[in-house]
Amino acid sequence: MVWLSDDERFSAIEENLKIINDEIAQAAVKSGRTENDVSLMAVTKTVESRFINHAIGNGIKLIGENKVQEFLLKKDELNLEGCKAHLIGHLQSNKVKKIVGNVDTIQSVDSVSIAKEIGKRSLEAGVTTNVLLEVNVGNEESKFGFSADELFERACEIAETGGISINGLMCVAPICEKEAEIRAIFSNMHRMFIDIGAKKIDNINMSVLSMGMSGDYKQAILEGANLVRVGSAIFGARIYR
Ligand SMILES: *Cc1c(COP(=O)(O)O)cnc(C)c1O
Repeated sequence: MVWLSDDERFSAIEENLKIINDEIAQAAVKSGRTENDVSLMAVTKTVESRFINHAIGNGIKLIGENKVQEFLLKKDELNLEGCKAHLIGHLQSNKVKKIVGNVDTIQSVDSVSIAKEIGKRSLEAGVTTNVLLEVNVGNEESKFGFSADELFERACEIAETGGISINGLMCVAPICEKEAEIRAIFSNMHRMFIDIGAKKIDNINMSVLSMGMSGDYKQAILEGANLVRVGSAIFGARIYR
């Protein structure tokens, strides 16, 4: 990767955000909605706080972190007034206590047991934690999440847990070569989102459909995503240390 100065990275972030916001607006209109119907999450894993704050200064109102530890280390350096934070990475049960109360939503609920732990710790802390259920929509062995087949049954079990509120679905789509394939995957997610919402189960509100990343957020919006999680297209390629 080309080495950029901080100033160059700050302006790249501004440019990238303009382009992405335009693309989001166009895709939203194509899907019969407006840009206000789609939230842009800046995914901040490995990104240093000054760059995250620059994105927040340029209109970002939602950030996503994958790891509890990394988020808690950066949190005090972030200007989070007016900006919400979500956890989007796989969560281990021994980290639940640390994250509850520190994020608005945990998007990566991928088992009944982790949901119960989040509920228990939330009740202890006197908060309600919003959660999304992660769907392994491509049935990939390497990915976390509920299979499409079990999703509804598990959602009903989780809905009975105190301390949490089910707000929608999230997925990390498989890498697809063909446009039609990725569209079909996202369309399938949207169908589950609508179907489960229509059942009107207590404590299941299908209001957030979180899908689409740097490489596929346009396709996700065209198929009904209302929250896209974009990292490298905003901040540049990640450098893992
Ligand atoms: C890293 C990550 C993203 C963002 O990925 P990019 O391709 O950099 O946009 C989105 N969602 C999850 C769950 C991630 O781990």
